[in-house]
Amino acid sequence: MDNQNEMLKTAQELIEKTGRKLNLFQEEIDFLIQPDRVIEIKVPVKMDNGVIKTFVGYRSQHNNVLGPYKGGIRFHQNVSREEVIALSTLMTLKCAANSLPLGGGKGGVIVNPKELSEEELERLSRAYAKAIAPFIGEDVDVPAPDVNTDGRIMMWMLDEYEKTIGKKSPATFTGKPVEFGGSLGRTEATGRGGVIVMGNLLKALNKDYKTIAIQGLGNVGSYFAKIAFEKGFKIVALSDSKGGIYNENGLNPDEVIKIKEETGKVSDYSDGKVITNEELLELPVDILVPAALENVITKDNASNIKAKLIIEMANGPITEETYPILEEKGIISAPDILANGGGVIVSYFEWLQNRKNEKWTEEEVNQKLEEQLKTALKEILDISQEYKVNLKEAAFISALKKITKK
Ligand code: NAD
Repeated sequence: MDNQNEMLKTAQELIEKTGRKLNLFQEEIDFLIQPDRVIEIKVPVKMDNGVIKTFVGYRSQHNNVLGPYKGGIRFHQNVSREEVIALSTLMTLKCAANSLPLGGGKGGVIVNPKELSEEELERLSRAYAKAIAPFIGEDVDVPAPDVNTDGRIMMWMLDEYEKTIGKKSPATFTGKPVEFGGSLGRTEATGRGGVIVMGNLLKALNKDYKTIAIQGLGNVGSYFAKIAFEKGFKIVALSDSKGGIYNENGLNPDEVIKIKEETGKVSDYSDGKVITNEELLELPVDILVPAALENVITKDNASNIKAKLIIEMANGPITEETYPILEEKGIISAPDILANGGGVIVSYFEWLQNRKNEKWTEEEVNQKLEEQLKTALKEILDISQEYKVNLKEAAFISALKKITKK
């Protein structure tokens, strides 16, 4: 089974499992699993050679019981109907677990954007926005950046959307550049949120863990590393897709990031041992942070994991069948829908600021982010005790309770 189908199956099975723990009827569970609607659209783009090429795009609107659909738009050759449904399902749960008045959505276009010129990319973004315009809006469905899309693409899409509907509506897209209504603190928010969850979880568990290994040094991994380092944690290993570096005496993430920017490789950093991504996962550290890809901790390597705590910063880094193995070893994991929820929380703050015509300071944003995540974590810890389930299931139960008002 490919990764997209695996992801959809995992999310749906977890809804089934946790729904039954909440004593939901099978009909209620089926209602929660089925997306409200999946829009498939034709995205015609005039290429630089004058030929019109037709791309296929999607927007999955999974559930809007708690508020407008919210979720990113990705441009990738592997985008599929199953993938957008799976990711929109996770967004419904993520928004609910973090008590946001938002539902779950996700969109995408099947395209390799690296094969497009700048002008073709803009025409693709505008054509997609025009095609989904009848189905989105600040009270209906609020898209954001995702894989291979960014603030500049959101501006093109917003401009096209506003032209199509004939009025201003800046809150319809989040993840905009700050000078165009984006929120301060959004770029760092996912990494910062993960460090907040880690710190508060350690407090709740009464543990004084210090050493951390982080897989992935992109947006999420690099801010997680920088902020954890500032807070006094010892970062002993970092990696990117080409491999990693390990130094048991600790690494300064800024120095490693500088080398990566210069040479393109974390493993070119000279003060440490070069390791593979597989070795990084099995290091003798207190805390392991998968911040790159899904399905990296599996039943094949679970018995070699030595960390005591895992912070799931990537989406779905642990396969479902692996949790019992980790639990048997006493390893606790902070679930992705909580640990990486910082990004959507600050997207929600951007939406709020646009709607109220306010501009919050970075300090205000970070403080509100901390409060929101602390509350969500406390609810999940309480549910974990009450239902005697791990934190992943507790996060799903917390989300389903809010959606079904049980
Ligand atoms: P990114 O593209 O900025 O960075 C990805 C990093 O992973 C890069 O350092 C890349 O070199 C590394 N990588 C790629 N393949 C790898 C491999 N085989 N082994 C090890 N490292 C590898 O992406 P990001 O925005 O940092 O997102 C990382 C993860 O976090 C993804 O799972 C994403 O879905 C999830 N996430 C991101 C956000 C966000 O706000 N950016 C929010 C929620 C979840």
